[in-house]
Amino acid sequence: MTPGSGIIESSMSDSPRAELIKLETDRRLGHEWDEWDGSPLPRNGDFDSPPKLFFLWSAAATAVGLAILFGVLWLLRPHLASIHPLLVTGTTVAVATLAVLAWTWWALLGASYLLKRPLLPARLAERGLYLRLMSWTSRVASRFGRRDWVENASVKVYNALALIRARKVNTGELLLLVPRCLSRDALDGVLAVAKRYAVPVFVATRGQLARRVIKERRPRAVVAVACERDMVSGLHDVAGKVPVLGLVLKLPSGPCKDTVLDLVQLEDWVKAYVA
Ligand code: SF4
Repeated sequence: MTPGSGIIESSMSDSPRAELIKLETDRRLGHEWDEWDGSPLPRNGDFDSPPKLFFLWSAAATAVGLAILFGVLWLLRPHLASIHPLLVTGTTVAVATLAVLAWTWWALLGASYLLKRPLLPARLAERGLYLRLMSWTSRVASRFGRRDWVENASVKVYNALALIRARKVNTGELLLLVPRCLSRDALDGVLAVAKRYAVPVFVATRGQLARRVIKERRPRAVVAVACERDMVSGLHDVAGKVPVLGLVLKLPSGPCKDTVLDLVQLEDWVKAYVA
């Protein structure tokens, strides 16, 4: 059974080896929260973080990635040398060049964000390479228990980059994608915004369905709402295919239940796309 919040019942039989632990959930968890143990989330599920946090962690993640690459190269040196001595020099130069390119790209990304100017093509920024950096940084941060904060910052940077290039679309061409975990009030607020701008809304019961509706409806732009975890994996899968702006949720009741969002920000995102 999927772990979640709620009562933990433990029934012990006479045999000390037979133990049944049953977790009763009062919610259906998204798979991103599979490991949640039911304890309250820090800061009531508000992971608001400054964008600079992403740049710090992404620099660390880039350094880790390059260190792994150099480590593998070091281990392979004897083997490469036994094949041909020039192979060691060639691969060392290739990895060193990759390192220079990676840091140059990272610096240009930072400059694009700070100057609010598209210094990189979309495929090398928010609709391509940036999404990979975001996922890798998230994996590194999760090792240190900082995943949600770093993802929050990374979505902010993503949105800033996406807004630099945001195009106007007709109302019917924009799709508003919201998760099933919204509180009643939050959902009412979303529907009111959608009605005001005549934008279709899709309530996604699973991340896979959200991806499918994008494939089938082929919107020209999407405003998506999700928690940081679902947002980062969703952007990774979808933002390369269609322009997306992402609004992250707050989780005052824990994950996947009665979540809330900033409706003013949602309306701003909708206005950013709708002509
Ligand atoms: S968006 Fe909502 S339902 Fe989906 S994983 Fe996040 S908290 Fe759970």
